[in-house]
Amino acid sequence: MREQLKLLEELQKHDARLQEIEGQLKTLPEKLDSLRRNLAKVEKMLQAEQDNLAQVEKWRREQEAQLRQEEEQIVKAKTKLAAVKTSKEYMASQREVENTRKAVAEREVEVLKLLEAIEQSKKSIEAHAVDVNALRAEVEQEEAVINGRIAELQSQADALRGERDAFITEIRPDVLRRYNHIRMRRGLAIVAVTDGVCQGCHMAIPPQLYNILQRRNSLELCPTCYRIIYWDKMMDDDSAREEAPAAPAATAAPAAPTAVENDASPASADAATAAATSEHKVA
Ligand SMILES: [Zn+2]
Repeated sequence: MREQLKLLEELQKHDARLQEIEGQLKTLPEKLDSLRRNLAKVEKMLQAEQDNLAQVEKWRREQEAQLRQEEEQIVKAKTKLAAVKTSKEYMASQREVENTRKAVAEREVEVLKLLEAIEQSKKSIEAHAVDVNALRAEVEQEEAVINGRIAELQSQADALRGERDAFITEIRPDVLRRYNHIRMRRGLAIVAVTDGVCQGCHMAIPPQLYNILQRRNSLELCPTCYRIIYWDKMMDDDSAREEAPAAPAATAAPAAPTAVENDASPASADAATAAATSEHKVA
């Protein structure tokens, strides 16, 4: 049973590490997504600025075309002015020239304002383009880092799964079932008992159970938190010492379900476990 408990402890370490890795594998792409969303947002803002600039430039071209037309109008009006016969005609042509000149002057002010606005807009776009490029570079770099980390974690997970697959076959199916069942509900499925105290729920276990635990030949559950428990000193023993006390323990306590120790068949293992179930043990 000591070997089974050690395997369970090992399994639990692997499962905890795998769970941690899976959690990281889930959050890492989320971090990248958030960076990408930020980049998309500033790219969109820059695009809006560029679109706006294009609109203003189009308006400026229209105003300049209008200006040229009005200047031509002045030239024509002046020619007409030279050819007028009556003072009434002269006055009318004179007024036309004046009005067009006024329109030209106003439009020139307008075009100047547009040129200023265009200048400012270009500067702002330039600065924002620098920011966007810097952010894009940052995202690409982060993407490389995160992808590297993901690959690293995936290979770690693969290695852990490989190890897990290798030793899980040595765990008795009934023991494994119990482990999975407890782990699903309580996270930690197997815990040490130190100085008679369960390290899962920090409650003292009955002295009688503590004695049984130290014999290391049965699968016991904490009567408070129902986790699989083992005597903490057990894990410190080297394997050479394990073989020696196993036999005397069997003779010294014939009632104890020592059969589970060396039995590989699930059916008789279950029977043995059932035999051990007389008290608070395997439920
Ligand atoms: Zn407990």
